Amino acid sequence: ERRFDNLRFDNRFLAQLPGDPETGPGIRQVEAAWSRVQPTPVAAPRLVAYSREMADILGFSEADVRSPAFAQVFGGNALLPGMDPFAANYGGHQFGHWAGQLGDGRAITLGETLDAQGQRWELQLKGAGPTPYSRSADGRAVMRSSIREFLCSEAMHHLGVPTTRALSLVATGEPVVRDMFYDGHPKEEPGAIVCRVSPSFIRFGNFELPYSRNDADGLRKLADFCIARDFPELQGEGESLYGDWFATIAERTAVLMAHWMRVGFVHGVMNTDNLSILGLTIDYGPYGWIDAFDPDWTPNTTDAGGRRYRFGWQPKIAYWNLTRLAHALSLLFNDVLPLEEGLQRYMDRFVEADRDNVAAKLGLLEARDADVEAMQTLNALLQIGEVDMTLFFRALSKFDAQAPVVAQIDVLFGHAFYDEEKRAQTLPGFADWLQWYSERLREDARPAEERRARMDAANPKYVLRNYLAQEAIDLAEQGDESRVIELLDVMRRPYDEQPGRERFAAKRPEWAKTKAGCSML
Ligand code: AMP
Ligand code: MG
Ligand code: MG
Repeated sequence: ERRFDNLRFDNRFLAQLPGDPETGPGIRQVEAAWSRVQPTPVAAPRLVAYSREMADILGFSEADVRSPAFAQVFGGNALLPGMDPFAANYGGHQFGHWAGQLGDGRAITLGETLDAQGQRWELQLKGAGPTPYSRSADGRAVMRSSIREFLCSEAMHHLGVPTTRALSLVATGEPVVRDMFYDGHPKEEPGAIVCRVSPSFIRFGNFELPYSRNDADGLRKLADFCIARDFPELQGEGESLYGDWFATIAERTAVLMAHWMRVGFVHGVMNTDNLSILGLTIDYGPYGWIDAFDPDWTPNTTDAGGRRYRFGWQPKIAYWNLTRLAHALSLLFNDVLPLEEGLQRYMDRFVEADRDNVAAKLGLLEARDADVEAMQTLNALLQIGEVDMTLFFRALSKFDAQAPVVAQIDVLFGHAFYDEEKRAQTLPGFADWLQWYSERLREDARPAEERRARMDAANPKYVLRNYLAQEAIDLAEQGDESRVIELLDVMRRPYDEQPGRERFAAKRPEWAKTKAGCSML
């Protein structure tokens, strides 16, 4: 019986970029852009969940997905004709410092497919065993992190946030040992493999590595390859093309940051090896979602001191990362002006996208300077008042500009506060702000019903709150994987009211307040 015959491979990264002459997982410094490496087979691969949408795009039928062969392939035990696995080489700045060669330490690309529309999709297993870039680590991933990456990347897609996707979540039937736990004791956890999918997995760090080795030739090859494969819309040549390319990357990154800020997503490890050249969210974990609005919150426990990767800093950290990319690309330029212009494009595009967020989140036809300032006032109130970001903005669309303000506060927003005292303390502030808002809305020509629909399309009801993922993980560890699938389904329609599923829109329970109670990894 033939299966998976809709898949066509066109492995350009391998075909067009220089490869490592050695094969296999031995740890080494590699000059080339990639190393051939086979996934390490696992004991008992079993499909836990899959993305129906991604399977459709790739042409997998339901029967394909449910066949034992699917779990074999996406658990790393078998290859399909045309697959030619490799790990990519890249470097990166981690926590602000140059870290040298990093590379895919636990990701193995199976191949690049073309879908029925001609769109390119790279299929990559995360957790399929060691590669030349694994350093001292095992190349594996635990079920907990894999559930988190699988669910969140699909949830982000449905939120309209640019992201890598996930096709499948396969349990390996093997334990993985992790020793970074809060009590300091190593722990065995079930292993899993996510097949993640993206038009490209090229990161800023891919370009930084040849730069760090003063390898202008390798850098140019990689840049030309990336532009031709991943930015086919760009025309021109030489420095003007490179300049346009960098500006495009900068703009996409700006748009991505605005999306993260809109939905309350905190990436948590914005190292340059974790920033996608396409402006996609990539590398989930430790990520987190804002519950009580707090620009200083980070899901990253290893970043506790500096909190470099806190929510409110994401736009400026992305800018910093772009300066690292500009630095690397400067080898391709005689004049740095185009790179400076690209960085300016980031600034301009972010300001514009942030303004669009203000208009969309507040339901205004256009956001004026005063509205942007009012949003800052509101954010300060949300922070001081310890208010749930998602619940607040979702409820805001129900605010009636024609009705008295004070009477509406408790009814609409009462459930969004985490702390009674802080609620009482900020009540006058919220009353003032809502007074301003009701006057502002009365100046805005849009009919109330239309405004409400616009706001509800920008302010999600359902996001993958940290505790929701944790509950699904806890249940899965007890043998009940149905919550993973249910959550995936809820997150398919994040902007819709989903009667009967309100519990998935509820604010964070007390137990999930600390990272010991609720893993972000
Ligand atoms: P991250 O912070 O997840 O972006 O990872 C940084 C680097 O560590 C990348 O080169 C990863 O491939 C590598 N890495 C992370 N976890 C593992 C693991 N379990 N095994 C091998 N390499 C890993
Ligand atoms: Mg990474
Ligand atoms: Mg990672």
